[in-house]
Amino acid sequence: MATSALAPYAANESQSRGRRYEEESSIYRGEYQRDRDRIIHSTAFRRLIYKTQVFVNHEGDLYRTRLTHSLEVSQIGRTVAVALNLNEALTEAICLAHDLGHTPFGHAGQDALNACMSEYGGFEHNLQSLRVVDELERKYADFAGLNLMFETREGILKHCSVRNARELGEIGKRFIERKQPGLEAQIANIADAIAYNNHDVDDGLRAGLLSLEQLRGQSLFSTHYDDVHARYPDLEDRRLIYEIIRRMIGAVVTDLIEETRSRIATASPGSIHEVREFGKPLVSMSDGMYEQHVALKRFLHKHLYSHEQKLEMTRKAQAIIRDLFSAYMQDATRMPDEFASATRGVEDADRARVVADYVAGMTDRFAMTAHESFVD
Ligand code: MG
Repeated sequence: MATSALAPYAANESQSRGRRYEEESSIYRGEYQRDRDRIIHSTAFRRLIYKTQVFVNHEGDLYRTRLTHSLEVSQIGRTVAVALNLNEALTEAICLAHDLGHTPFGHAGQDALNACMSEYGGFEHNLQSLRVVDELERKYADFAGLNLMFETREGILKHCSVRNARELGEIGKRFIERKQPGLEAQIANIADAIAYNNHDVDDGLRAGLLSLEQLRGQSLFSTHYDDVHARYPDLEDRRLIYEIIRRMIGAVVTDLIEETRSRIATASPGSIHEVREFGKPLVSMSDGMYEQHVALKRFLHKHLYSHEQKLEMTRKAQAIIRDLFSAYMQDATRMPDEFASATRGVEDADRARVVADYVAGMTDRFAMTAHESFVD
C-alpha cells in the first residue's frame, strides 16, 4: 500500500516543540521513531509483561498483561493514524508508553497507592507515566529520563488534575487552558478504550466470569454474534468468540476512522496548532457507535471488574500496596540504595514520592514477593 504524505494537521517533526535536551538527529530514523525505540528499550516497558491488566499475572498464562494490552492499543492506533494520514510513529510511541506508570495490580493498585499518597499530593498513573519517561528511567549519560519529543509527552499525559498540571509547565498547560492534544494523542486515547473493551470481553469469557448469554444483551456483541452464528452455526465457542471480537474491533475502528475523517473535513484544521485550539476532540466515534461502546464498558464494570472473584483479588492487592508503602515509609533502607539514598534528609512529601515511585515500578510478582518477605 502506498504511503501518502502527512496531512497538514498531523504532528510533524519539523514543526515539533522538540526535546527538553537538544540532541543530534539520527541518520536513519525520524524523531518519533526514536521515541518509540527508546520506549521499547526502557526498563518500565519490559516490566509491563508482569503487570496486571485485569487478571493478575499468575491467574493464567493466556490473559492480557499490560504489555500485550499496550501492543494491542498500538496496533489499533497505527491503523487509524495511517488511514487518516497522521503520524504513525508518534501514535505508536504514545500507545506503547501510555501505561508505563501503571502500578502493580492494575486499577486496584493505583487506587491503593493514591490513598497512601493522599497527604502527599496523590498518585495518578498518567502523571506517573510521564514521570517515568521524564525522570525515572536512568539510562542515558546526558540526561535523566528518555528525553522524548514534546508531542510524545503530550500524548502520554492523557489526564491530569489542574493542581498537578500547574507544576508541570508547558506540558501541563492544556489542562489549565482546556485545550486539546494533537490528533495522534487523541487516537491513542480512544485506541486504549477500544482495545480493553474488546480484550476484556475475551478474557472475561475465558475466565468464566462472563457468559455468552449475558453478552448477548449488549448490542455491539449481539449484532456480530447473530451474524457469525447464522453463518457458522456449529462453530465451537472459542472460535465463535474470536470471530465476534475481531468483527467488533473492525466495526468500531472503521466507524472511528470514518467519523473522524468527516469531523476533520468539517473543522478543516490547517495545523496541529488549530487541532489543539479546537474546542473538543476531533477523533471520535459516531454517536450511535459511541453509545454501544459505552454500554459495553459499563457492562464490563458491573459484571467483570466488580465480579466478586475480582473484588477478592482487589482487596488482597490493595493490602499489599498499603503494607509495602508503610514499610518503606518507616524504613527507607528496605528499598534499593538508589531509592533509599533519595529519601535522606528530605521532607515527608518527597520521601513519600520516592516510595511511591519504587512501589509503582514493581511488577505484580515482585510486589507479592517483597510483601511476603515483610510478613512473618
Ligand atoms: Mg491502557
